[in-house]
Amino acid sequence: MIRSTCPYCGVGCGVLLSQDGANGLQVQGDPDHPANRGRLCSKGSALGETVGLDGRLLAPRVNGETVDWDTALGTVATRFAQIIAEHGRDAVAFYVSGQLLTEDYYVANKLMKGFIGTANIDTNSRLCMASSVAGHMRAFGSDTVPGLYDDLDLADLVVLTGSNLAWCHPVLYQRLAAARAARPHMRVVVIDPRRTATCDLADLHLRIAPGGDVALFNALLVGLVDRGAVDPAYIKNHITGFMAAMAAARGAGSVGHGIAEADLAQFIGIWGATKKVVTVYSQGINQSASGTDKVNAILNCHLATGRIGHPGMGPFSVTGQSNAMGGREVGGLATMLACHLGFQNPDHHKAVQAFWNAPVIADKPGLKAVDMFRAVADGRIKAIWIIHTNPVVSMPDADAVRATLMACPFVVVSDITDQTDTAACADVLLPATAWGEKDGTVTNSDRTISRQRAVLPLPGQARADWQILAGVAQRMGWGDAFGWQTPADVFREYAALSKVAGALGSDFDISDHATISGAEYAGLAPFTWPQNPQKRGGRFFGDGQFHTPDGRGQMIAVSPVALQAVTPDHAFRLNTGRIRDQWHTMTRSGKSARLSQHLAEPFVEIHPSDAARLGVGPAELVMLRNDHGHAILRAWISDAVAPGQIFAPIHWTAQNAAAARIDTLVPGIVDPVSGQPDSKAAAVGVSRFDMAWYGFAVTAQDLTPMSEYWAKTRIAGGWRMELAGREIVSDWLAYAQTLFGLAGIPAATVIDRQRGTARIAFYQNNRLLAALFVGPDPVEISRTHVAGLISTSGTQSVLAGRPNVDTPDPGATVCACLNVGANTIRTVIETRQACSLITLGQVLGAGTSCGSCRPELNAMLQKYRLQDAAE
Ligand code: SF4
Repeated sequence: MIRSTCPYCGVGCGVLLSQDGANGLQVQGDPDHPANRGRLCSKGSALGETVGLDGRLLAPRVNGETVDWDTALGTVATRFAQIIAEHGRDAVAFYVSGQLLTEDYYVANKLMKGFIGTANIDTNSRLCMASSVAGHMRAFGSDTVPGLYDDLDLADLVVLTGSNLAWCHPVLYQRLAAARAARPHMRVVVIDPRRTATCDLADLHLRIAPGGDVALFNALLVGLVDRGAVDPAYIKNHITGFMAAMAAARGAGSVGHGIAEADLAQFIGIWGATKKVVTVYSQGINQSASGTDKVNAILNCHLATGRIGHPGMGPFSVTGQSNAMGGREVGGLATMLACHLGFQNPDHHKAVQAFWNAPVIADKPGLKAVDMFRAVADGRIKAIWIIHTNPVVSMPDADAVRATLMACPFVVVSDITDQTDTAACADVLLPATAWGEKDGTVTNSDRTISRQRAVLPLPGQARADWQILAGVAQRMGWGDAFGWQTPADVFREYAALSKVAGALGSDFDISDHATISGAEYAGLAPFTWPQNPQKRGGRFFGDGQFHTPDGRGQMIAVSPVALQAVTPDHAFRLNTGRIRDQWHTMTRSGKSARLSQHLAEPFVEIHPSDAARLGVGPAELVMLRNDHGHAILRAWISDAVAPGQIFAPIHWTAQNAAAARIDTLVPGIVDPVSGQPDSKAAAVGVSRFDMAWYGFAVTAQDLTPMSEYWAKTRIAGGWRMELAGREIVSDWLAYAQTLFGLAGIPAATVIDRQRGTARIAFYQNNRLLAALFVGPDPVEISRTHVAGLISTSGTQSVLAGRPNVDTPDPGATVCACLNVGANTIRTVIETRQACSLITLGQVLGAGTSCGSCRPELNAMLQKYRLQDAAE
């Protein structure tokens, strides 16, 4: 059994891994890991299903030709050196990822800032939590998360704002739910324009207006002052900026949050009366053109009340990715030098340059992500190396990013697969190790550094990222500085640099580990930074001492900023986010058939009144459009969103849907301080997208349909796909033969030309190869049932589209761990076999494993209770 860490979200759960003997892994939660204490969410539990080698990039390629490593690395080194010689060092860039291990990040940062000599290295964490970094820097003088996960267990009030914790950080949510069950007086307030699964835990849901966060926290600050709930002595002794922040907060500074007066008063009342308050915030705060101000509006409330740095209290930014925090520490952002040292202090440059014995050192910030791609577009950057991230999908103005990369003179992509929208733009593709093969460290949201350990052999010619980067550095003439043999060597050097940083006043100092042996590194247990003779783990700022020049916490005067205006043509506010069972652009989580059944198709949530006004019926398709791009998505009509607002997930790519790259609609508007894009407030037009026909298909073979609308996802033994087209099809059998590439294969058909419906199934040796169901309206069949028949023997009830009457249809998956469907759950509730989460678990097992589905189970129970009460 190998101890490692989940590669997905910033909770950073520990896992126990063992090979299952069938190219997969057995995965359990690590009961000894402080982040999760044995818990895992649906994504973490399914990790073992995502490590297969299908789709893996297994050898380097240059211009589409497979080459050896020496040729590939030599090509990268030569082209980078040529471009630097001709155009200067600012003509090259690295765009890296929170999926990198810290050791990889360290080498990338050292190469770019210390040897190439520019700070043009930025990470996709810029899209995720750069505003938290900037807000921390302004308030604390350092990018320091003050608290610990333990504070969620100890708080009496937890405010979740801009955070769908139940879906995006599920184990933290489960931990909070458990703490609340154990301490029933604990209160939870959720602030979100949308009614998310997280609201299941809320005593109070404040349905804030989009962009209303500064106004709301300003109103809270004013309310706290007016109620005498701030701490004058603490402000006097430890805080600056109180009067200016208050002046900004009063009057217009508190207008525009959209919260009813009574709810606001209740919120202020609970907050003011509760000493132990934790405010958890995430992308809903950060991903904004005023994200840094939003962060500081939150921090202001904690600073004015002294509710920071003590057990059970403090602001708490939760990071999106497994090693977003590691990237912040190591210098993965263009705005930081290394180990929390910055560009503003010449002593920092000198110290880092001397430590690295580097020929040059970047002495000013580099280009942040959006500006970096703009520089590629206008030719200032002529070579870019993209590592473990998919900007053609995830960057704002994603269509423009694709065009930019296609036109860029030299694009290098390191990844585990060539099947990404970004890999299609690469001149050089480098096969990197995947989770399960990687060896190094990551830092989670509460500053806990954990080991990721390799449990699988390296496939093909895959190499660790730090080795690939070092290989290029060696070929650029810097072999002495990049000659490590193991990740432990890199970690030791990093820990030693942190000692230099600590001596210069940095909070990030893990110098206890600067002389760690290989064996100690191999067995390194999770620890929370800092780790040095002065301080080991724990909270920051409880003593009222901050890292600002005067040692005082800085309150910032912040005022609401108007969002990009909606117009008659672009009348909807688009909110974007994650879904429960997928991760980023699905290159890993999309491999799990189990995870893919929860929400199998890209969708847009739209309020019933808006749907009615637009003439959009359930399951029909809608077009989202603005000046940047468009998407065609399935309408999910729901009052979880407010009128005039829509929500769509970020995960779908050109690899698995015709037009669902949602970031094509997000403009490249950024926060002026953090550079983080405004990913949750685009103005878009929505219209019904009329189709001549709708279809559903299952197939054993992967394929890409040609219709105007399609979206595909994995199932056990093949793929399922939703289809729709605008062209009238006269011969459905011919269409199906072409779609599946099965001309000449026997087919069972039920075709009604009059009604425009067809059901066609192809068999070979009594085995179902593919089936197509089409009609003039969205097809109503049991998708779970049909998907379960692919590649199975026998002809049972495929064309009926439903199980036989004696076989219940389980419906869409709700509990991914136990594979329990919505219909099964509904039946058990309706027949009174279960009336609570506990009894549902006893009867069906649903919700008893990772717990990620509990909010949905609760919602189903609640719906039935409401129906019951109305009857
Ligand atoms: Fe992984 Fe889930 Fe834990 Fe996040 S909460 S680290 S996705 S197991």
